[in-house]
Amino acid sequence: MRVALVTVGDELLAGDTVNTNAAWLGSRLDERGVTVERATVVPDRKADIARVVNEYHAEYDAVIVTGGLGPTHDDLTMEAVAAAFGRAVEPNAEALDWLAEHGGYSNEDLATGTAELPVGATPLHNEVGVAPGCRLESVYVFPGVPDEMKAMFESVADDFSGTKRHVEFVAVDEPESALISRFETLRERFDVKVGSYPGESVRVKLESEDETAVADAAAWLRENATLV
Ligand code: ATP
Ligand code: MG
Repeated sequence: MRVALVTVGDELLAGDTVNTNAAWLGSRLDERGVTVERATVVPDRKADIARVVNEYHAEYDAVIVTGGLGPTHDDLTMEAVAAAFGRAVEPNAEALDWLAEHGGYSNEDLATGTAELPVGATPLHNEVGVAPGCRLESVYVFPGVPDEMKAMFESVADDFSGTKRHVEFVAVDEPESALISRFETLRERFDVKVGSYPGESVRVKLESEDETAVADAAAWLRENATLV
């Protein structure tokens, strides 16, 4: 399964908020064997959000959008996702009933727009906050607040699956440039994907659907490199 992430918010682009939602979702999806193909940050601007959602909906098996729910002026995500499908938003009766029952909020208590979802969307309830998310075909819309986003993702996590990949990291105390031919050997001899992440040392990531291939490749590298 191939998935694209769209994180919405001017504050993410300005660097006021670190985009932990994309990193967390990337890691949870990867664990489930899902391939994350895109993680795009877009401003709080309806046309930009709609364009990216429309494009990714056509291209990937699912799209996850976070941020910009709720009733404030910069919360445009629901309108934008609706627009990507050529639809309008409307107050969602099921979301309103859930908020009345679980949150004790009557329709009048809620700021205008709080429970407006694209026409035909299935609401996703917000166990941690107020603003509901939704699913529209294969597009999932979650809140921006990390704890709310995480809880909502977990409620639909089973929709996201793929082939389990096995991973081992080996930390090598050599310059990356010295490792080029050994990376080549690893890729030739073992059925693994090799990632090289330099920092103080080089973190080598070995990955495959075949657990034995990963173990064998890691063992070979440990024998043939200077470890940290
Ligand atoms: P609510 O459910 O409260 O209406 P929301 O969906 O409207 O939330 P935003 O208004 O976009 O979300 O953001 C709420 C908070 O979450 C802000 O403090 C914002 O900086 C933070 N936030 C938004 N997106 C992300 C992200 N991708 N990573 C980390 N934090 C984020
Ligand atoms: Mg916002």
